[in-house]
Amino acid sequence: MYRTHTCGELRLADCGKSVTLAGWVQKVRSLGGMSFFDLRDRYGITQLVVDADAPAALREAAAQLGREFVVQVKGIVLERQSKNSKLPTGDIEIKVEALNVLNKAQTPPFTIEEVSDGGEDIRARYRYLDLRRPPLQRALALRHRLAQEVRSFLDEEGFMEIETPYLIKSTPEGARDFVVPSRMNPGCFYALPQSPQTFKQLLMVSGYDRYFQIVRCFRDEDLRADRQPEFTQIDCEMSFVEQEDVLDTFERMMRQMFKNALGVDIPAPLPRMSWYDAMDRYGSDKPDIRFGMELSDITALAHGHGFSVFDACPYVGAIAVPGCAGYTRKQTDELTEWVKRPQVGAGGLVWVKLLEDGSVKSSVDKFFAPEDLQTIARQCGASAGDLILVLCGDRRKTQTRLGVLRIEMGNRLGLRNPSVFAPLWIVDFPLLEWSEEDSRFYAMHHPFTAPKPEHEKWFYSDRKEDLERVCANAYDFVLNGTELGGGSIRIHNAQMQERMFEVLGISKEEADYKFGFIINAFKFGAPPHGGLAFGFDRVCALFGGQESIRDYIAFPKNNQGRDVMIDSPSKIDDAQMDELFLASTQQ
Ligand code: ASP
Repeated sequence: MYRTHTCGELRLADCGKSVTLAGWVQKVRSLGGMSFFDLRDRYGITQLVVDADAPAALREAAAQLGREFVVQVKGIVLERQSKNSKLPTGDIEIKVEALNVLNKAQTPPFTIEEVSDGGEDIRARYRYLDLRRPPLQRALALRHRLAQEVRSFLDEEGFMEIETPYLIKSTPEGARDFVVPSRMNPGCFYALPQSPQTFKQLLMVSGYDRYFQIVRCFRDEDLRADRQPEFTQIDCEMSFVEQEDVLDTFERMMRQMFKNALGVDIPAPLPRMSWYDAMDRYGSDKPDIRFGMELSDITALAHGHGFSVFDACPYVGAIAVPGCAGYTRKQTDELTEWVKRPQVGAGGLVWVKLLEDGSVKSSVDKFFAPEDLQTIARQCGASAGDLILVLCGDRRKTQTRLGVLRIEMGNRLGLRNPSVFAPLWIVDFPLLEWSEEDSRFYAMHHPFTAPKPEHEKWFYSDRKEDLERVCANAYDFVLNGTELGGGSIRIHNAQMQERMFEVLGISKEEADYKFGFIINAFKFGAPPHGGLAFGFDRVCALFGGQESIRDYIAFPKNNQGRDVMIDSPSKIDDAQMDELFLASTQQ
């Protein structure tokens, strides 16, 4: 037997036992002729001790040990003199009787401990060493736990796990596709799926009325912070359902995941908010409802005071930041610069301080009488001591900027505690989104989302205002300001699907070329259906109380989309290029 116990297992009650452990040497210390070693495996750390009076051969062997050597030790469990309450095994140590070096190790390029001394780049290059560290082991263990919870819940509910292909057809609408050249079909390319959307709908046509898959998706996007070119979804679809059935099922799944993985009870039923309310109240379609600081529409109060900046804007909105009336000039100037950054995009910032003594002071005192500012403060629900921050401009854009500012102030004030969980559903999304830039509609969710039945009359209208009013039975699951998942009730009728492509400005020829297979399938008895997908990496990160998904993926890419450990993507040789009918652009 290689080992009788793991390195996380032994306790006081085991004292006196003769045991064998195997693992990695994390730390080596010598003290008055005695040597101490921390032995690590994925279950924990156990202290080993080689006494000063141990046989010379053993002491010599121990002296040769270095960090990350793989060893097998045999010894007796003893109660420790100086206990370590931070370690579950901290009450005991192993008095080593035999030591077997299973493999030596070069000195690792960074310390492999709870907190490492290595920078991000070097740890990425030696990811297999970083993965030995306890925080990463805990992250992957949580991911495993959550995947098991998903599988057992959905299996119980009668869902079938069915795989869909990775080599599919390029139909970019949304993100860019990754493509794969086909050697056997010169000049032709597969695409890697951005999601299994069309396949899961085809499975509904085939009668597999409850499908799921924990599946890799690929999107060739510019990698904004914390995106990965390949990521994992919990992808689900159901037939003969309405929105209520989908929300109920996945709310229960989430509740079980929270309970079983974290011991956390989330509210039942979960709060729901319409997309319109979320935008008006939080300036975001993924509101963080752990704290207030809601947006107030002060347009009517702001207009007509001779302040031309406000007068020229269709919307003036504000948030009341608790307890910040004491901000100095320097601090408000810094905030003004902050909102002008391209990532926020505001033209400027107006502030109103509701001072502790109840008086007001603002950056627009020239235009607004104190009573007017008091009225504005009241409208914002401000209390004495609050700082009111005002932005103006186009309604939705300004709300979005206020939403970004609200999150920033929430962060600065420590209102976003990662161990508090406030999930909710956002519902009633608009079906379409007009792009001024391209002067066309885009699907807000995706082109397979159905209009609400009661809005179909507008869906078939040719007027832009009508089309803008159409809502969908689309829904997002939002947690702490992050969208964790989303889905919709789908179109299941060929003629309606064709109308959708028409509304999106996709010609009949193009729609046939790219999506003919699904339009056709809908002509052979497609059942009503709907579903959703969760971003599994992000679910794991948020459950783990972390912002970044990278730690929850065993082998992630960096933010240039590179795997620096295996050095990919990389060039291929000319023969391979020729075989794939690719022309070289290399010098
Ligand atoms: N396929 C969709 C997505 O990736 C989710 C869904 O509608 O089920 O966002």
